[in-house]
Amino acid sequence: MDTIDLDSNATTPILPAALRAALQVMEDQYGNPSSVHGTGLRAKTVLDEVRACARRVLGAPTGRLMFTSGATEGIQTAVLSALCAIRARRAEGAGAGSLLVYGATEHKAVPESLAHWNALLGLDLQLVALPVDADGRHDLAAMRALAPDAAFVCTMAANNETGIVSDLDGIAAALAGSPALWMVDCVQALGKLPLALANTRIDYAPFSGHKLYAPKGTGMLYVREGAPFTPLLMGGGQEGGQRSGTENMPGIAALGAVLAALEAGGTFRTHAELCGFREQVADALRAALPGVVFNAPFNHALPTTLNFSVPGLSSKELLDLFDAADVRVSGGSACSAKAAKPSYVLDAMGLPVWRSSSAVRLSYGPLMDAATITEACACIARCGQALRAAGLLDTSDTPVAGGLLQLTANGAHTWLVLDAASRTAAVIDAQPALAPRIAALLCGYRPVASLSTRAEAPAGDDTIALGERTLRRIVSAAGVCYLLDDTHAFTGTMAPASLAAMLLADDLLADDLPAGMLLCPATEAVAPFCTGVQSRREEDVDLHLAAADLATFLAAHPDAVLVDVRETFEHAAAKSDAINVPLGRLAQQIPAWLARPVPLVFFCRAGNRSVRAAQCLRDLGYPMAWSLSGGVALAGTPQRPFALAA
Ligand code: PLP
Repeated sequence: MDTIDLDSNATTPILPAALRAALQVMEDQYGNPSSVHGTGLRAKTVLDEVRACARRVLGAPTGRLMFTSGATEGIQTAVLSALCAIRARRAEGAGAGSLLVYGATEHKAVPESLAHWNALLGLDLQLVALPVDADGRHDLAAMRALAPDAAFVCTMAANNETGIVSDLDGIAAALAGSPALWMVDCVQALGKLPLALANTRIDYAPFSGHKLYAPKGTGMLYVREGAPFTPLLMGGGQEGGQRSGTENMPGIAALGAVLAALEAGGTFRTHAELCGFREQVADALRAALPGVVFNAPFNHALPTTLNFSVPGLSSKELLDLFDAADVRVSGGSACSAKAAKPSYVLDAMGLPVWRSSSAVRLSYGPLMDAATITEACACIARCGQALRAAGLLDTSDTPVAGGLLQLTANGAHTWLVLDAASRTAAVIDAQPALAPRIAALLCGYRPVASLSTRAEAPAGDDTIALGERTLRRIVSAAGVCYLLDDTHAFTGTMAPASLAAMLLADDLLADDLPAGMLLCPATEAVAPFCTGVQSRREEDVDLHLAAADLATFLAAHPDAVLVDVRETFEHAAAKSDAINVPLGRLAQQIPAWLARPVPLVFFCRAGNRSVRAAQCLRDLGYPMAWSLSGGVALAGTPQRPFALAA
């Protein structure tokens, strides 16, 4: 199955006509547009034609229109131009305002550039974030109040995380009579909103090519006729001295092909069609993910962006799930997608923390087609089923599989012992932050004990029966620990070394703790999963298996088992043939592997989780554990039917 890209606000693939235009320029019209000979003139013609087309599409017959490397460069140029003008006005003693006002939900390129150039030019202007309302739209009353003192105002046409469309007419009205210069970041507007720049008071409008099917490293900057301008790049005087450096002709030609398609019509979907797609996707999300909330009102948003949160699920979990189903989405904005921080955009809208820290952005471009949307909706339905089967949705009706389950939050571990036969369960070191998740996982089980390794000398029975299984409490000078039959010991914050010392000193424990028993700590500081009294880290052991070497490895190790360590719901959404042992089930599975060792190749999405699993086994003295480098993302899903040597 092909990947479905629903992350177009981050970047887009290349329009086929744009690819052809870039190739043609590289093959036939490769000249330098500054050269005066025929080859150069042919290149110059391309440049002029693209610029003329851009002026028509942007509604900018007047003013400057230069090609840049992207919006970040356009933003720098606009900021530098505005700040230099403010400095000059100040030097002349003319009123220039003292505030640099930017929308609280701007792309980071804007406030970062403002702060950078403000400091570099020694202007000491005050940066002020213009608040937005609960819908993500600028607070126009606040804008009116700031307008008289504003030197430079930066707002965006449409937001990259939420798709919220700004009320540019309202902002222009609020700025009436203000000396402020005005930049509007139009990156997410191109091809999605009508633009008639020269009819507005907008002074600067940066654009980015790669957000609309042109290559990365392409962009444009419009500067209103008469607006102050200072070049960012000096040199050979290209672009009429506005932006030196030999022009990126393949990129400009490709951008030209996109602009030509916009002008001609027929290539991109209409607003109404895109609204229809959004309804379809929203319905699919509502059906698959009960309780889903949309973080931006559709009536104020681009129909190509859906930002949502699901109670009880983190954005990382949702991203991993969608990724496993081969649907690419992003958490918050792409730039901050790696860090699971709350979204500053949603924070600025005043959304509750759980929504801003678990938000997922799903976005597509105007090239989207009905068949892909239908396929995406089917994948979303499959994601919902996978979550339901894993017991992570309110509507889950089948209890999760029995056994031992580890949950980790904020560096601490909670352990669930689930006895499938008797449907009884015990929780060890429950963390309040995990209460909803624990409650969801215990559905269909009767909790018989909530135990803590932190309590000094807890009252109550020393032995807890869970069907055929037994949990036994041991209290010693070193702390409280619980033994699950003779396989696992829940050892709290005790380090294995102090546990070993305790064993020596305490005859009772020495008898009680069978050799090979896995120690399941309460904190990552002791071990990320489980460990043993004898565990030790061997340095210089290479447990990475390169994707290119996998086939050879499997041929050499016919008994090797591929183990998908992604979450159960990711595994279900991915339809992989490999066995699934999520990290939270590692401690449950390890005794079986230790009893009958076979070569194990762990894999996950990107190779981070699998390397931790392989390391855990190696530390336990298991010599045959490897991690597939780069994971499914680089190697594809390893498909081979392997039996679980349990
Ligand atoms: N502004 C907005 C609204 C964006 O979405 C982005 C890209 O994420 C940028 C600016 C930066 O654009 P570029 O990647 O072309 O520098």
